[in-house]
Amino acid sequence: MAPRYHLREGIVVRRSELPSGDVVVTVLGLSGKWRGVARKGKLLGGNLARLSLFHEVSVQGYRKRDDDLLLITQVELSGALPALSQPALYPYAHLLAELAEHLAVDQAGERLYAYLASGLRGLVQHHDPEAVALVISWRLVQQAGLAPRLTHCARCGGGPCNRFDIAAGGLTCDRCASGLPIAEAAKAELLVMLTKAAREALNEPLLERPTHWALLSRYLAFHVGSLNSLGHLGAVTAWSPSS
Ligand SMILES: [Zn+2]
Repeated sequence: MAPRYHLREGIVVRRSELPSGDVVVTVLGLSGKWRGVARKGKLLGGNLARLSLFHEVSVQGYRKRDDDLLLITQVELSGALPALSQPALYPYAHLLAELAEHLAVDQAGERLYAYLASGLRGLVQHHDPEAVALVISWRLVQQAGLAPRLTHCARCGGGPCNRFDIAAGGLTCDRCASGLPIAEAAKAELLVMLTKAAREALNEPLLERPTHWALLSRYLAFHVGSLNSLGHLGAVTAWSPSS
């Protein structure tokens, strides 16, 4: 079968270099995620550094069969945020990229891509990157249809709710009483992060951060899968994944 040529765009959310020097990337774009490989020394019109993590790229390539990786022949850089490689920002950027990659299935690609793109920009531009990471992480989860239930008990639909049950997927009422107790302040901030516009949520001080990281981390581990990036967050937050 003749090779099929493709033109693709998106953000590099995963990158690995093989012993051969070839680079394999996963890219999240408007139509979802796709994987490609750039052979060392065979990339025309671009070098492999253009396929770096968090770069926005425009790529040409071809596939020999439908299930093959895209063989990347050209790369153009559409956008880069070099500040994301700073130790204070990298763990957050890694979390957003890894989370978006895990959540990306065919349908949600466009919205996940939009949130990831604005989240990565926000990490660089906003004065409080930790808040950006928390808010955008929850928003990505929400875009994928996995948001926790916060207005009524996740088990019986009743209330009032003073506990958070990870497995049940949200707050639980005093009668069901499953999950861990959650303080009023943390509950209110969680509601802000998931129901207000992201911009508005970022104007809130978000004071209960160790609780939010612990909750987000456990929620993602249960509902999304284990993320390597969560293990590195202790370096930039007051919260340690093992605590
Ligand atoms: Zn209940």
